[in-house]
Amino acid sequence: MIAPGGTIGILGGGQLGRMMAIAAAQLGYRCHVYEPGRDSVAAEVSAQFTCAPWHDEAALARFAEGCDVVTWEFENVPVAPLAPIEGLLAPHPRALETAQDRLKEKRFVEGLGGVPAAYAPVDSAHDLAAAVDRIGAPGILKTRRDGYDGKGQWRIQTARDADAIRVPDAPTIYEGFVEFACEFSVILVRGRDGEVRFWDSAENTHVGGILATSTLPASAMVAEQVPAARDLAAQVAEALGYVGVLTLEFFATAEGPVFNEMAPRVHNSGHWTIEGAATSQFENHVRAICGLPLGDTATTAGQVVMTNIIGEDAQAAHECLGQPGAHLHLYGKRQARAGRKMGHVTRIGAG
Ligand code: AMP
Repeated sequence: MIAPGGTIGILGGGQLGRMMAIAAAQLGYRCHVYEPGRDSVAAEVSAQFTCAPWHDEAALARFAEGCDVVTWEFENVPVAPLAPIEGLLAPHPRALETAQDRLKEKRFVEGLGGVPAAYAPVDSAHDLAAAVDRIGAPGILKTRRDGYDGKGQWRIQTARDADAIRVPDAPTIYEGFVEFACEFSVILVRGRDGEVRFWDSAENTHVGGILATSTLPASAMVAEQVPAARDLAAQVAEALGYVGVLTLEFFATAEGPVFNEMAPRVHNSGHWTIEGAATSQFENHVRAICGLPLGDTATTAGQVVMTNIIGEDAQAAHECLGQPGAHLHLYGKRQARAGRKMGHVTRIGAG
């Protein structure tokens, strides 16, 4: 066990790290953020900050020396430079390796009995034509690595669209478009002793590939599909020897839950747990990686709606503070670029 007073290293300096550091501070831990970018909203609420490139092994070693455990809030941290500090990492970096490549991730989840959208790896225009021919259109071409919030994705409505697309140099994957009724996520925490707890599943909406809202309770259709989705998520966690918070995203379809992707970390669709659950995803992540008892994940409100605050909407966001039950989180980002996650508001109701 890493007792309160210890130091938690966080790889990545964004809002997920910020909320993790706030939860860690409440339990008496100090956080040390490692992030290549100068402006880190996680570093602003942490005891220490190392600003260095991911591949700077000397800087990583110095950072790790002062940490009792190292975790991440950003899933595209390069894995190779982490080898010398593997013993300090929680979760194990094999979770990063699996989740960083959409092809690897889908094969892994299929191997455990999960059902992803029809897919094919694409490395050339010829591959894309063959993939669209086999899987059909509409579909989405996605980069295998480094994509997030709908970035690195191209919608293909017809086979003719596929001819017009310039396939990027990076490896990609073509996915058939899933006719879903709605989307939901399963978020779990797994302790060092293998104990697993789930939060209730929120129903998620996306706009332009970016999460817009997470709502609880979810619809009856989601509720029906959650048990199968949880079984899969628990198997994923077990197979990875996972410690911490893990998220799997699903499409609810007439044929059952279709796996979309996993995030080996705390997740935007779990922000509602800060005010809407007995223990938040951030606190339970800290508890898990430090070997403390896991907290109760029960939902504590009849109704919860989390709404992301994107781009310029941040300017008027504080107006929601006049509404009863509204909890505002602003991440302290200086520039409100279009599509940038600036904060979120969670509205708690009696239901
Ligand atoms: P992703 O970054 O892959 O999670 O994609 C972001 C969002 O785009 C998803 O949450 C869906 O709303 C939509 N999307 C991605 N892939 C598919 C697909 N194969 N079929 C239908 N919608 C998709």
